[in-house]
Amino acid sequence: MSNDGLSFYQNVERYVDAAAAHTKIPKGLIDQIKACNSVLQVRFPVKIGNEYRVIEAYRVQHSHHRVPTKGGIRYSNLVNQDEVMALASLMTYKCAIVDVPFGGAKGGIKINPKELTEMQLQRITRRYTAELIKKNFIGAAIDVPAPDMGTGAREMSWILDTYLAFEPANIDAYGCVTGKPVSQNGIRGREEATGRGVFYGIRQAMSHKEDMKAIGLTPGVEGKTVIVQGFGNVGFHSARIFEEEGAIITGISEWEGGLYNPDGIDIMDLKKYQKDKGTIREYPRAQWVEKGADLLEYECDILIPAAVENVINKENAPRIKAKIIGEAANGPITPNGDEILLKKGIMIIPDLYLNAGGVTVSYFEWLKNLSHVRFGRMDRRFTEYSYSKIVDLIEGRTEGKINKAERHELTRGADEIDLVRSGLEDTMIYAYEDIRKIWKRNKSIKDLRTAAFVLALGKVSDAYMAMGIFP
Ligand code: NAD
Repeated sequence: MSNDGLSFYQNVERYVDAAAAHTKIPKGLIDQIKACNSVLQVRFPVKIGNEYRVIEAYRVQHSHHRVPTKGGIRYSNLVNQDEVMALASLMTYKCAIVDVPFGGAKGGIKINPKELTEMQLQRITRRYTAELIKKNFIGAAIDVPAPDMGTGAREMSWILDTYLAFEPANIDAYGCVTGKPVSQNGIRGREEATGRGVFYGIRQAMSHKEDMKAIGLTPGVEGKTVIVQGFGNVGFHSARIFEEEGAIITGISEWEGGLYNPDGIDIMDLKKYQKDKGTIREYPRAQWVEKGADLLEYECDILIPAAVENVINKENAPRIKAKIIGEAANGPITPNGDEILLKKGIMIIPDLYLNAGGVTVSYFEWLKNLSHVRFGRMDRRFTEYSYSKIVDLIEGRTEGKINKAERHELTRGADEIDLVRSGLEDTMIYAYEDIRKIWKRNKSIKDLRTAAFVLALGKVSDAYMAMGIFP
């Protein structure tokens, strides 16, 4: 994978500079917004087998214009300081776009989780958390990690447990990390949140008839062909929800190779196969594609990179045939690749908006932890009684009778998962319309990414201005 000569952090800076040119924000303030405020680099020893290994780890807090700061923790062999800085800065812009009141942060540990046992991963995670506590880089009011590539609810639960051991009297301690298992005060719907947000975002973009006409598509997701790169958390849930909503998933690409079936791949069936075999190789109901990255260049309506950065660059961008690229991953397209794709008339729905579903639902989880009550607990039954009375009244005054199933559907009060999905859907729809307005109203802004950065810069600069630091 080529980064086209620029580091990931430089790529993000380039996008910010391009957007800043469309604003009146003073240069000094743009420089402050771009800078990473605090960078923590730690090294610690962990015994693996009979050897001690020095583990390299990071936590970057990009912006304190709002606190706590927020962002996932990545476990990957490719983790480095530049990558964590880039991901932390994207978090700042992402939170601003979806009106989540956090500054951006990100963490990373340079390990390959696939090569380590569960015990070894647990030891590394707990030691990393202790380092964060020592340096005051974690806490519900300070900095709140979440899952990212290579981590999930299990790791978040180890982080929480370690934190609780150090902070037994802190009543808000559960808000120190999100993406926890539901049994550990997590929230229903967090695991699927990023993928579901990707779906809501692309569906909203596809609801605009004139925008779809411009790229040769009819509105709506149903019947459209989709190729997804990465079959982990974000890729799987994106593919699953697109399939549920009537799209045809023709390709799934992984690091080891890919699968293609023009009639559609059954996503739950493939997930089961991957779980049982530990691979997607030799899945019998699709053709095997030896080089997974080749699938990015296959014919499809929607391409969803949901794995790593820089996968579309100046080398392969000329061969991309998708009409829409939905950036579920962070930084999957280099700025040079981006330029080529825009010239080809491809619609790019940018990462800093499209994958914000994860942090949105993390925000709901944090609120739940601070309020110490499950969403829907206080009012669900009251709502059901009220709706029941209305239905009784209508039945009493009309000839019509409804059956039990209809009554249940009409009178059901919302529980936690309904409220989470509703809040997420609303957030993704409104944020898209905000970005689109900037894109459509300003003739010099040619793409959604620039418009999204303009929106984010406006919100972050307003917060700085309100502090009175800048004139
Ligand atoms: P994950 O670890 O659950 O899944 C990543 C998948 O991509 C794995 O199956 C891995 O094998 C595969 N992969 C790795 N390199 C690949 C390559 N070169 N080609 C094809 N597949 C490859 O990670 P995730 O949480 O799904 O994160 C994926 C992306 O989404 C990352 O860019 C992450 O920053 C971004 N993201 C994640 C979240 C979240 O809530 N988890 C939120 C926002 C953004």
